[in-house]
Amino acid sequence: MLEDLLKAGHCFKLICGAGKEDIEEVRKLVYIYALAGCRFFDLSANLDVIDSARDALQKADVEDAYLCVSVGLKGDPHSNKAVIDYNRCVNCGSCESVCPERAIHYAKVKRNKCIGCGRCAKVCPRGAISYISEEKQLNEVMPDIIKIGVDCIEFHVVGQNEEEVFTKWKYLKENFDGMLSICVCRAKLSDEAFINRINKMIDGRKPYTTVIQADGFPMSGGEDSYKSTLQAVAAAEIVSNAKLPVYLIMSGGTNSKTSELAKMCEIPNNGVAVGSYARKIVRRYLDRDDFWINQNVIDDAVEAARRLVECCE
Ligand code: SF4
Ligand code: SF4
Repeated sequence: MLEDLLKAGHCFKLICGAGKEDIEEVRKLVYIYALAGCRFFDLSANLDVIDSARDALQKADVEDAYLCVSVGLKGDPHSNKAVIDYNRCVNCGSCESVCPERAIHYAKVKRNKCIGCGRCAKVCPRGAISYISEEKQLNEVMPDIIKIGVDCIEFHVVGQNEEEVFTKWKYLKENFDGMLSICVCRAKLSDEAFINRINKMIDGRKPYTTVIQADGFPMSGGEDSYKSTLQAVAAAEIVSNAKLPVYLIMSGGTNSKTSELAKMCEIPNNGVAVGSYARKIVRRYLDRDDFWINQNVIDDAVEAARRLVECCE
């Protein structure tokens, strides 16, 4: 049961990426991390992506794993895709070199790889990059996903539009009776508003049927430093202090130091969700053409992933 994994207190969740719709990459990521001991996977709300994750789990001979799909609000950066204006682009290559997902090649964006992290626009000297939202409509994507069965649905709550938050949350509560996860960050909320929002969302839900994923800085990970993960731990502290009947997971800038820092700060939690850093440390193996036929490549990738998973225990 997913609850048992969370109750054990050291759940490692691999974030493949809410916007990551590169089916082959998801298949490899899930395969590597399943063999490395991960049992909780966060996926884009896309039936083909879910299928490829299931296929990877079967290949890895792992039966006790749990799948979560992520959905967001309008403006959620996780649903954004980079778009290049070729009237401005001078093909300098800066965006390609900073993209952590290898989503840009010769100034062309591969949408299924882009996770909307925002790094490319920051370095573009010509202001040629903007973003469009590919936010999914819940009533279009969720019925089929609920029908095929997932273990958890995660709702990304970014922004201040209370009406949109609660309309979508109501839809999820009424249509899915499994574990719901709220991925919430403090970027645009005071600490008080942050906890008030969570309290209002869990009102009426049975105790421990909700995960709060305390998001430090969304999609800020990639570095393995205490500084990178500080905000994730700080956000977790606020949730933990509120003593709510929820499971608490840290995310947003997480890495191999996150659990250690939370322990040093004596902040109780149920685990860590790692995205950018988890993908980064296996990137060079994912990119190999001989991935599925070279056991050494797979072994090395699994070893790198295992070291991270074990840091979170
Ligand atoms: S840098 Fe981030 S936003 Fe830009 S293309 Fe790469 S993944 Fe997408
Ligand atoms: S950084 Fe800007 S100008 Fe340079 S290749 Fe990318 S889009 Fe074009």
